[in-house]
Order: sequence, then structure tokens, then C-alpha cells
Amino acid sequence: MNDILYIVVPCYNEEEVLPETSKRLKAKMESLVGAGKISRDSRIMFVNDGSRDRTWELIAQLHAADHIFSGVNLTRNRGHQNALLAGLMTAKDLCDMAISMDADLQDDVDAVDAMVDKFHAGCDIVYGVRSSREKDTFFKRFTAEGFYRVMNFLGAETVFNHADYRLLSRRALEGLSEFREVNLFLRGIVPMIGYTTTTVEYERGERFAGESKYPLKKMLSFAMEGITSLSTKPIRYITMLGFLIFIIAIAMLVYSIVRWAMGHTILGWASVMCSVWAIGGLILLSLGVIGEYIGKIYLETKGRPRFLIEDVLDEK
Ligand code: UDP
Ligand code: MG
Repeated sequence: MNDILYIVVPCYNEEEVLPETSKRLKAKMESLVGAGKISRDSRIMFVNDGSRDRTWELIAQLHAADHIFSGVNLTRNRGHQNALLAGLMTAKDLCDMAISMDADLQDDVDAVDAMVDKFHAGCDIVYGVRSSREKDTFFKRFTAEGFYRVMNFLGAETVFNHADYRLLSRRALEGLSEFREVNLFLRGIVPMIGYTTTTVEYERGERFAGESKYPLKKMLSFAMEGITSLSTKPIRYITMLGFLIFIIAIAMLVYSIVRWAMGHTILGWASVMCSVWAIGGLILLSLGVIGEYIGKIYLETKGRPRFLIEDVLDEK
């Protein structure tokens, strides 16, 4: 087969895992080439996302020793999603299919075979889906589940238990390049591309070495990013909530007037204070949500580049 595969791996401070990751990916590539499923021109493309350790040095060394490794060096840290996009957009014109994968070997390398098979069977997008979340802490499971539910409730189509381990054909990559938003949330955008899609199940392992680059704070902001860049429903719900509270306030007013007419004085200090606080809180919350969207509009209008590439190492 002459189909060129690029495995795109964003790396941020991954010097501890790179030697093992590169070894396993190379073995996988060679077995696929040996089986005649992909072309010899296939590459493993590491994207250095402005790492502060020796990640880029290692990538350059790997490339110098063996051209099966390509490298893309970003000018600074732009975050996982942008690094991934930079790699995919560089690979777009060089490959027939690209698989995106994390550097820490949490994504089972053996699922690549099934993805490539699905590509040959005519699929343009193959999602890697975790078969179970047993290895996760209860907290991570609970929050992840909640996140997917909220996303689907808000009308953003996401694939359950799918992170960023997926295969995209060249034309799917071309489709992806048409989405020009700066606030990028790939998981929500890829399902919008269309074409024939399917899933492949895999067991997600533990991080091979080093530590997670997604602490709780980043995870929460990632979730917020995902929701507000894909759905405007929160704005509508806030409007509805405001309306509901207004109705309740009117009802309370009518009730007070009726009581007053019947000769009862209302001793309502507590209730007044409570409603003032409740409404004040809701107003602030609403302003916050609306501000979130305005901030997004502000960023989109600038049309800033999502990443800048310093070097590309790729030779045939
Ligand atoms: N990553 C990146 N830029 C960042 C943060 C992370 O390119 O600013 C990469 C990281 O090197 C890894 C992938 O994104 O390949 C997923 O990160 P990690 O494994 O730390 O996240 P987790 O699996 O804990 O959610
Ligand atoms: Mg990880």
C-alpha cells in the first residue's frame, strides 16, 4: 500500500517519556510497513510545544538518527490543542492519514492497527474510545461523565469517552483546516466535519513517566472552553432564569400587597435580604457567563494565529 501515515504527538516537557514512546512508535510503524499496510514514507511527528526541558533536543536527535521521526518546533507553549493542530496542519500536505496521540503512552499504541484497517475500509475519521475508566480515580470519572453529559445536553456533539486519540484522513484534515476559530476545542469540532466515521475501543493506561500537564485547574478551564466555544445555550438559560426570577418577584409583591390590604404588616427583613443576595448573585453569575462569550468574540475578531512554527524537520 502507498498510503502515508503520520502519527502526530504533541509534547510538552516530555523528556522522560520520549525515548520509550519513540521506540514503541517506531516498532509499530515498522510492523505496519512490513505488513504492507502503510507506505515507507510514513512518519512519527513530534510537536514540541515550547517545552522547557530537553524535549526538542531529543526530537532533533531522533530525527538525525532516523528519518522516520519528524519534528515541528513551536515558538512557545500554546497548549495541547494548538500544538496538536500545528502538527496536523503540517502533516496535512504530506500524508494520506494522520493519527493524533499523547506522548505519555496512555493511548494504547496497538489500537493504531485497527485504526489503519478502518481507514482502508473507507472511514475518514476513526475515534479512539476508552473501553473503561476503571483506572481513573472516582473524582476524574465523575467529572468526566458530568462533562460529556453537560456537553450533550447543551447540544454540542461529542463522542463519549473519546479524548484526542483519533485518525483523520487527508480530506478530513482539509475539512478541519476550514474551521478557523481561535478558541479551539478539537473534540467538538471534529464531529462537525462529517464523512464516514467509526470508533475503535482501547484500554487507556497510566502515564508512562513524568506528571500530568492537566492539573484540576487546567481541566476545569478546558471544560469551560469546550462548552462556551461550542454552545450558546447557557446564554439562553440565563435569560430564562432571569425571567423566572422576575415572575417570582412579582408574585411576592402581589402577596405582600394582599397581606398588607388584609391588615398584616410584613416583618420581612430576612426574606428581603435573602432575595437581594440571591438576585445579586444571579446577576453576577449571568454577567460572568455573558462576559465569557464577549471575551471569546473579542479574541475571535483579532484573528490571531493559533501557533507559530519555528522549525520543521521532515525528510523523505
Ligand atoms: N501537552 C502539550 N502542551 C501542553 C500540555 C500538554 O502539548 O501545554 C501534551 C502532553 O505532552 C501530552 C498531551 O498533551 O502529550 C496530554 O497531556 P497529559 O498527558 O499531561 O494530560 P492527561 O493525560 O493527564 O490529561
Ligand atoms: Mg496523559
